[in-house]
Amino acid sequence: MKIVVLKFGGTSVGTIERIKKIADIIGNYKKKNYNVIVVSSAMSGVTNDLIKKSRQISNNFLESEYDVLVSSGEQVSCSLIAGRLNHNGFKSRTWLGWQIPIYTKGPHKYSRINSINKSRIISYIKKGGIPVITGFQGISSDERVTTIGRGGSDASAIMLAKFFKANRCIIYTDVEGVYTTDPNKLRKAKKIKVISYEEMLEMASLGAKVMQPVSIQDARLNRIDVEVKSSFVKKPGTLITKRSNIINNKIITGISSTHNDAKVTLIGVKDRPGVAASIFKPLSINSINVDMVVQNISANGNETDLTFTIKSEDLNKTKKIIQENKKISFRKILFEKGVSKISIIGVGMITTPGVTYKMFQALAKKKINIQVISTSEIKISVLINKNDTKKALEVLHKEFKLDN
Ligand code: ADP
Ligand code: ASP
Ligand code: MG
Repeated sequence: MKIVVLKFGGTSVGTIERIKKIADIIGNYKKKNYNVIVVSSAMSGVTNDLIKKSRQISNNFLESEYDVLVSSGEQVSCSLIAGRLNHNGFKSRTWLGWQIPIYTKGPHKYSRINSINKSRIISYIKKGGIPVITGFQGISSDERVTTIGRGGSDASAIMLAKFFKANRCIIYTDVEGVYTTDPNKLRKAKKIKVISYEEMLEMASLGAKVMQPVSIQDARLNRIDVEVKSSFVKKPGTLITKRSNIINNKIITGISSTHNDAKVTLIGVKDRPGVAASIFKPLSINSINVDMVVQNISANGNETDLTFTIKSEDLNKTKKIIQENKKISFRKILFEKGVSKISIIGVGMITTPGVTYKMFQALAKKKINIQVISTSEIKISVLINKNDTKKALEVLHKEFKLDN
């Protein structure tokens, strides 16, 4: 069975006009004799709005209820798509996560798709139908509605492609593909033709919102080729695939940036074995994701300074947790919101010496101060003042020859 999974993001279904356009895209695949499975996000802005409402109702909104609420946006967009396909003469209907069912594992808000029951969808496809499936949602083993993290419709599409053994999985979005950096932040950004799972995973985790990081882990684990392209213009997009399929002579493939980071510095922490664990354990229990970490031994050897970064939205919670933590003592604590993280990513750096130096020197020339550094085999991240983000993107994009 020749199956194609087509996923549409929020902007692609953001208005009635856009939905009419994407219904034509879907219809064209059907006319080419593909069996089509459609996955959709909520119309753009809808999920954010629902999250806002949950906060207005209570600052203690149960996560199980949160999932029921925020997954509802997808029901609206899917029924509008199916409605338009019907209007155009196709057999189509909406399938909500529980109707298939799509089973998930893990906590509410951050569940992951575990299995998908194929039988109902297959028999519907065999009858000529186009199933339009709500992204982002599933049900737990005790049949509660779950969601799979912001941007999760990407993972829904990839897992559907996996379970249905689809020939193609296409992510339709509002840009033409994956770019060397966010094309909405840097005009010189260039579309990448092919990118490896590893690089895409780093780019996504480090701020490139175009694909949800979890979805790329799923694609990589299951060796699913993913095409990212525009629902607005008919042009070739980007292929995300395994490294051995790619010939690339660039050291750096892309640059990602974040803008909502915060930095916490503990000065004069009493140093003893296990102190870092005492600081980070309660943060982890409270689902606060700690990102970059640096620790210095101060001159007298008894005290240490420790700096780490978190998402700005977690700052208040972090402050409270640290101030209430009786297991640590320190002289002073500093919080700073105005920082951003710039990362260069590329498998080319594994075999090229001097990339770190090149990056630091390029930033130094522009008088951009580096506050924290972290590296892995295929990425280097630096924390800088938020106001320097654009300048840093420009200079690094040029330095690593991504402009041309
Ligand atoms: P969708 O609603 O289709 O899921 P998203 O808003 O989640 O779309 O992702 C698309 C957006 O990702 C683009 O509009 C772009 O601003 C942003 N983006 C960030 N980094 C990149 C990148 N490297 N390449 C392409 N887009 C990027
Ligand atoms: N609508 C959900 C969100 O905004 C899922 C998605 O867009 O993929 O996070
Ligand atoms: Mg998205």
